[in-house]
Amino acid sequence: MIGKILDFFYPKKCALCGRLLEQDSLRGQQLGLCGHCDLSPYRIPFDGGEQADASEEAVACFRYEDRIRRAITRLKYEGRKSLADYFAAWMLEDEKLREWMREFDLITAVPVSDKRFRARGYNQAELLGRHLADRLSVPYGELLIRPKNTPPLKGLDKNERKKVLDRAFDIHPEAESLLARRKEAFPEKDFLKILVVDDICTTGSTLEQCVNVLESCFPWVVVRSAAFASENEDFA
Ligand SMILES: [Zn+2]
Repeated sequence: MIGKILDFFYPKKCALCGRLLEQDSLRGQQLGLCGHCDLSPYRIPFDGGEQADASEEAVACFRYEDRIRRAITRLKYEGRKSLADYFAAWMLEDEKLREWMREFDLITAVPVSDKRFRARGYNQAELLGRHLADRLSVPYGELLIRPKNTPPLKGLDKNERKKVLDRAFDIHPEAESLLARRKEAFPEKDFLKILVVDDICTTGSTLEQCVNVLESCFPWVVVRSAAFASENEDFA
């Protein structure tokens, strides 16, 4: 009832174009999308996440262009935190991807430095990871920190990015006890499966570094990575 009253005074708008959402479109209301905003042209088909070198390749859901690019700008730079839950809903609309993600024992996100966190007030990758975890009923936990504020990676090639990102990430002080508790919950498992989430994947270097740090510190975890959008089709 309160929801209905709120909808009357503050009708929901399309997260992408700002048109009022059709009240009778349940799918539209749930996804925050109007009938004009179709995301299927941008969707990268999910390949099962089982590629030969999965630890080095992120699963990406959308191509980073047009509407998707604008949506990320709003979430990341314009303070539209509420978009993160829609991002999660859009990712999980792909049933196969949803099933793949549900298999993880823990979801985490690419961290930002304290300096960047203070400047922005939030970490969009963390918001996305938390909403994905909520929707999938998988626990979310912080496993990584970013001790230094690395310079923007825009315009750098893969090798240059690697250099900048070298030792950019470290293990979160609570990670070991958090993972140990998760492991205790599944004594029959040899490995815990962890998913690292980011908003954009450009060359894959950032996610690759996160995967490497976690797998080298905790030999009993298997880490995979996923991004909302990718600039590079090769990572899909
Ligand atoms: Zn729209």
